[in-house]
Amino acid sequence: MSGADGHTAPFGSGDGTRAVRAGLPEPVKHEPTLPGPVFAAHYHLPGEVTGPYGYGRDDNPTWTLLERAIGELEAPGQDDVETLVFASGMAAISSVLFSQLRAGDTAVVPDDCYQAMPLVRAQLEAYGIEVRTAPTAGDAALDVLDGAKLLWIETPSNPGLDVCDIRRLAEAAHARGALVAVDNTLATPLGQRPLELGADFSVASGTKQLTGHGDVLLGYVTGRDAEAMAAVRRWRKIAGAIAGPMEAWLAHRSIATLQLRVERQDATALVLAEALRERSEVSGLRYPGLPDDPSHKVASRQMRRYGCVVSFTLPTRARAERFLDALRLVDDATSFGGVRSTAERRARWGGDDVPEGFIRFSVGAEDPEDLVADVLRALDESAH
Ligand code: PLP
Repeated sequence: MSGADGHTAPFGSGDGTRAVRAGLPEPVKHEPTLPGPVFAAHYHLPGEVTGPYGYGRDDNPTWTLLERAIGELEAPGQDDVETLVFASGMAAISSVLFSQLRAGDTAVVPDDCYQAMPLVRAQLEAYGIEVRTAPTAGDAALDVLDGAKLLWIETPSNPGLDVCDIRRLAEAAHARGALVAVDNTLATPLGQRPLELGADFSVASGTKQLTGHGDVLLGYVTGRDAEAMAAVRRWRKIAGAIAGPMEAWLAHRSIATLQLRVERQDATALVLAEALRERSEVSGLRYPGLPDDPSHKVASRQMRRYGCVVSFTLPTRARAERFLDALRLVDDATSFGGVRSTAERRARWGGDDVPEGFIRFSVGAEDPEDLVADVLRALDESAH
């Protein structure tokens, strides 16, 4: 049960078993199963500097356990894989891009991904890095890969829910000597394992379904290449974008229920998508788990679950606002992946190329029949 370094090896091969055991240390009599958060800016460090724990910006035992847990989910059984946690998804994303790219390099990023990415793009360009963009659908990045140093993938994309073929893109990028990073936020490691599909980095916001309660901001990077990960670690130390121990501990505790949550939320997302398909006022319905969704064919080859986000468009901005107002079980809020359903009119932020009536709906852990009834009632009430 215990590994050479003294931490508990994951047992069982099921996602539920793995989620509840992930990252736990070897049991110690009178100690809790998951040790509490370690609050330390510095650690006792007499004499020579040895071992990992000297200063709190470099390392923290609570991160170590969480990093093991995420690594066991992202790449089960692969001991050569390293995970680093960060203060937020954006801190994790920035750490990969800014640690791997230099002036004169070229990066390829999606033009339909998370809306803070254009800010990152502008910053990369300010540092003399060329950024090319391509849509997620249709593996369009293939056409702009020549000469690239790094390919950034976000699949399924947020909020459009397009999907690209990670294996195909990773092979093409590697053939040209480029590194490949996949934003795995929407899928979670239980939905998709980018490293097994050939990516060099799986990067995610742990703020969403990974932790699932809407009370923690977190990010992580999992990677196999020791040199590349050393640069990411160095970036974390320089930027100081570190997770607080309380957040790291809450995240680890929350991962224990990840399989239960994704199972319920993703199944209900499909039920909701099927119900929305019957409604005449709904257009542009997207859910990669729907068999006739444009993303489904590629998604079913590389995803084990299809996520908890459904997107669709109502005829006008006013109709979408009335719909959101009429919902009782669904909070009008941004973000996604939480146990309480949320929905929002995405165009209110600007930045995403979506119609005014576009709704991004994050399905929670409510009873499916209650949630669907609430949505159908709100659609009826918002008609006038
Ligand atoms: N990646 C995706 C796909 C996201 O949706 C988000 C946030 O919404 C992020 C990254 C950034 O994560 P965070 O808000 O934790 O910085």
